[in-house]
Amino acid sequence: MKNEMKLRSGTTIKQMGSAEAIKKNYLSRKTLSDMHLMPSGEPIAYDIAPDGSIIYYFDPEKVIEAPPETWYFPNSKKESMTLPGGSIIHRMSIRNAASCGYYTADRLEKMHYEPIEEPVAYTYKADKSVLYFYDKKTAKRLPLLCVRCGKDIRYKKKLCEGCYEVELEKRRVEGNEKRQAYYGMDREKVLFFDLELTGFYDRDEILSITIVDGTGRSIMDTFVRPEHTKSWKKTEKVHGITPDMVTDSPTLKELTPEIKRIFQGADNIIAYGVSTDYSHIKYIYDTEEEREELHGKVRCCANEFVRFAHENRPDVVHASLTDAMSCFEIEWEGVPHSSVADTLACRKVWETLFPNYYNAKPE
Ligand SMILES: [Zn+2]
Repeated sequence: MKNEMKLRSGTTIKQMGSAEAIKKNYLSRKTLSDMHLMPSGEPIAYDIAPDGSIIYYFDPEKVIEAPPETWYFPNSKKESMTLPGGSIIHRMSIRNAASCGYYTADRLEKMHYEPIEEPVAYTYKADKSVLYFYDKKTAKRLPLLCVRCGKDIRYKKKLCEGCYEVELEKRRVEGNEKRQAYYGMDREKVLFFDLELTGFYDRDEILSITIVDGTGRSIMDTFVRPEHTKSWKKTEKVHGITPDMVTDSPTLKELTPEIKRIFQGADNIIAYGVSTDYSHIKYIYDTEEEREELHGKVRCCANEFVRFAHENRPDVVHASLTDAMSCFEIEWEGVPHSSVADTLACRKVWETLFPNYYNAKPE
């Protein structure tokens, strides 16, 4: 006997004859019920009864005491019934059933489950017809349906493939309109910047700053001498800045008045992956108001690239600056991961995404 079945959890259990199950001390639901117990885990084996119904076996180590409301009352014949397969099930209120994890087929369907085992309990409806309860633990998880059309199986973002395509097309039109729009920005007031850091956390310090404007002019390009950090072996391998290279460089404190002056005159300050850069550069400001003002000018090139790729280039799955450069087939100037090269790259990616960023709307 080599038959197997897959439970909704993905676990595969084997079919097993009753003699073998008894030898292993496995317990059927009927045995458990007679002992006023209920399973606390999934079945570990199953067998198929002569009538075709499934008998589940449970691990004797994984059982809990059944709540008294599920107990069998042997003297009350009205409170139990025999199923065609021979199992005896007991009458329970809907509330007691729910406390055991037993639900009607309708209720299970609403929870996206389908009963596969025979009923484990029952009650009567107002019209005296029988209402069966099934155990959610052994029910099969149904595929979820699209939240828009309610007809097809979900594909992405809770939508079916058809509805998702319609949604994506709408977003693509909006996104392309936004990217093609005329912003009429002043090239000299649009700044691109990048920082290299000693590490990836807030406490880490800035090692270099590059700022260029929309004309390509270098506004600031300097190493920065950290005040607290003496070595940064891990990030050194990425950006190549060694402690020796920054010994004679100004500190962030010394550069602060100049950076503030530069940012003051800018309309937009653009970086690739703003959250890291912003979270470090914001400390040049002392007040929350000043930080808010800076935040209002900051634009994230990475976010815009992610949106573009999502809408137009499903083949692009990663969104690093290097991925953006190769997606647009743009050549690097300088060594990637240096703040100069990254700033220039960020500018090129931004200007490819927004080809009319500096252009005024034609009459
Ligand atoms: Zn749909």
